[in-house]
Amino acid sequence: MTDHLFERAAIIGPGLIGSSLSRALRKAGVVKSLVAYDKNPATSARAKEIGVVDEAATDFAGAVSKADLIVIAAPVGAIGEIASAVNDHAQSGALIIDVGSVKGAVAEAAAQLREDISFVPCHPVAGTEQSGPDAGFAELFDDRWCIITPLDRPDEAYKTAINKAKTLWERIGAHVEFMDPAHHDLALAVTSHLPHLIAFTLVGAADDVESVAQAEVVKYSAGGFRDFTRIAASDPIMWRDVFLKNREAVLEVLGRFSEELAVMQRAIRWGDGEALEKAFTRGRSLRRAIVDAGQETAEPNFGRDKDGQ
Ligand code: NAP
Repeated sequence: MTDHLFERAAIIGPGLIGSSLSRALRKAGVVKSLVAYDKNPATSARAKEIGVVDEAATDFAGAVSKADLIVIAAPVGAIGEIASAVNDHAQSGALIIDVGSVKGAVAEAAAQLREDISFVPCHPVAGTEQSGPDAGFAELFDDRWCIITPLDRPDEAYKTAINKAKTLWERIGAHVEFMDPAHHDLALAVTSHLPHLIAFTLVGAADDVESVAQAEVVKYSAGGFRDFTRIAASDPIMWRDVFLKNREAVLEVLGRFSEELAVMQRAIRWGDGEALEKAFTRGRSLRRAIVDAGQETAEPNFGRDKDGQ
């Protein structure tokens, strides 16, 4: 395909999401060439070795200054610092996007940048519990949503940049939705951050029940526990940063969850079957809505697919 949107993309942090995006951008012909930079040079070297990018840069300025697309794919806690370094080295007219799971903090950092470059904050709502360049794959964003939280900048150049970012995600199979950063952070606290917190906590709690041996937890994990361990296997650094940067929204949602949990506790204590049944019926209908929206398949998965996912 010849209709490249960009000549040269710099991928900062070619881990799971960065390397998936590199693969997808290349496959869809969105960029002509790709360079990776990572704070750990072995990671960018690995990305080049497995053919995810054309070049591995050891020098940040060198990677960024010749790129017309800069993708910040590092953990959310590092995005502010990287954005400020991008500000020092990016060429005029460059489009900068990130893929961070929290948007309020990113929007604040993006608003500090020069006006001749455009930072359009993005969050592809797609991922796995794996990390690193080897874990990525080009199809990760197929039929998934990417939320864009644009800055409030009235200039034409920024509007063009937003459209370019939208086209980029659509060319690799994603659907795009625009949102205010605060709303994004609250919505994702419900759909992603709280579930991860619960999974991390549940797995920790199971470890603490001394009368149940770890061997039993492993042996009988298909009773529900196993599905939580997949989420709890997610990258600790990435998730540390999500909770540090989305503190208020997570605390708000956690408060509501704690109240619901207390209601369940009471229903169990008092043998209130009707209340339990009502709550569980709500769970089933939400699951059905997710399947109907094409965000999951209805097939039961007993952990027996070939890759064990
Ligand atoms: P990952 O596989 O660990 O990749 C992140 C990469 O960024 C790593 O190679 C890391 O290097 C590098 N890095 C860290 N600090 C850096 C810095 N200051 N400069 C340059 N590179 C740096 O993590 P990921 O899952 O792809 O997550 C990346 C971003 O995507 C995060 O912002 C996350 O919130 C977002 N996201 C993740 C998911 C998901 O499901 N995983 C989904 C959507 C969005 P080292 O490993 O050497 O530290």
